[in-house]
Amino acid sequence: MPEFESVDILIIGSGPSGTSTALHLVRQDPAWAKRIVIVDKAIHPREKLCGGGVTHIGQNILAQLGLPFEPKNFEVREVRLVYQDEQYSFYGNPVFRVVRRDEFDHWLVETCEKVGVLVRQGEAVKQITPTADYVEVVTEKTTFHAKVVVAADGSRSFVRRALKWEGESRVARLLEVLTPENAQTQPEFRDGVAIFDFTRMTEGLQGYYWDFPSIVAGRPFMNRGLFDSRARPERPKAHLKQELRDALEKRARHLDDYQLKGHPIRWWDKNGRFAIPRVILVGDAAGADPLFGEGISFALGYGRVAAPAINDAFARQDFSFTDYQKRLLADSLFVQLDIRVRLARIAYRLKSPWLVRLGWRIVSWGIKLTRWQNPNFVPAETPQINLVDSVQQST
Ligand SMILES: Cc1cc2nc3c(=O)[nH]c(=O)nc-3n(C[C@H](O)[C@H](O)[C@H](O)COP(=O)(O)OP(=O)(O)OC[C@H]3O[C@@H](n4cnc5c(N)ncnc54)[C@H](O)[C@@H]3O)c2cc1C
Repeated sequence: MPEFESVDILIIGSGPSGTSTALHLVRQDPAWAKRIVIVDKAIHPREKLCGGGVTHIGQNILAQLGLPFEPKNFEVREVRLVYQDEQYSFYGNPVFRVVRRDEFDHWLVETCEKVGVLVRQGEAVKQITPTADYVEVVTEKTTFHAKVVVAADGSRSFVRRALKWEGESRVARLLEVLTPENAQTQPEFRDGVAIFDFTRMTEGLQGYYWDFPSIVAGRPFMNRGLFDSRARPERPKAHLKQELRDALEKRARHLDDYQLKGHPIRWWDKNGRFAIPRVILVGDAAGADPLFGEGISFALGYGRVAAPAINDAFARQDFSFTDYQKRLLADSLFVQLDIRVRLARIAYRLKSPWLVRLGWRIVSWGIKLTRWQNPNFVPAETPQINLVDSVQQST
């Protein structure tokens, strides 16, 4: 038996960023399927702490890949943004979809398998050593020699830590609870309303409290949580647990009655390092959005940029990935992400309630001029092809 397994592309992590990278490669050329291995320490369906909100941005990336949105989801038809007694809403059919991440990520993994990509689950990566000719990756079960490694291993990225990647400070903090609800009486379920409450943003919370209606194993639960971006790391930290306790009390819920969970989100810095020779970062390992904490769409979007970068690296036999950052910055999604970073730095610096209230009013007038006031507006595209069918027919 050989001492190692050779593979062209080893993707570490089978969340949306890892699976999207594989699927974009296969979309480009079905022959890639047999040259990719995805490893994940978890076995799907696995738990992933997340609000599960997938906006039209992520839905469009899936549609452009050729994937109809199949996972079960709750359709949010109104997104209400609240600051004290000010509020405005986006309407749409739907504005976004709330998924359960165990189901959503499982679907992505099954889709990878259907197009022929090998996904090895329950196999944690323990060691990574780049060399001039390959990257040695030691997992619990084997040693890989990979020509290219895609680190899609999330905010707490093992690869970043093992390779002593800089930029550890750009990390948002999140807390979440799931509360069982009565869907018949709860207006958020009846009318499909998700709430982002920014009331505490001038009191030290660099983010918001959220209420996302969601269906867990067929039963209605409210996904409630706090997002603290820390976009302004120089300002004192809010006491997150107490903030969540207070927010729940206002909604007649008691924090101690529920299981509290927390997880970070790493956020984007356009000047950060996104690649070293033979290793590239995607998804939360690279960085997501500090304004709203949106990460699923960007995770899917990284795949759209990483796939052609990898394809070209093999075509040119140049695995330096010196152009990867430039490719990211040239993609409209990451231009938007950069704008969100700037907005987060401005918004979460504001201390004056008067100024924030004024901002709320200006946006609420502006929004009236957009399609987001039409409850029948469908922001998401419909896929023009079916990726799985087209790959299966071509092989
Ligand atoms: C509380 C909370 C709420 C959120 N709500 C939303 C929301 O509503 N909408 C939204 O868009 N985003 C939300 N996000 C952000 C979103 O969850 C992430 O941005 C997204 O999951 C990033 O995807 P990813 O593929 O980069 O990483 P992940 O989804 O984290 O996947 C990483 C994968 O890597 C695997 N892995 C890790 N280490 C190893 C290892 N050593 N070896 C092998 N495998 C490994 C893990 O098992 C995992 O499967 C939320 C995040 C949190 C914490």
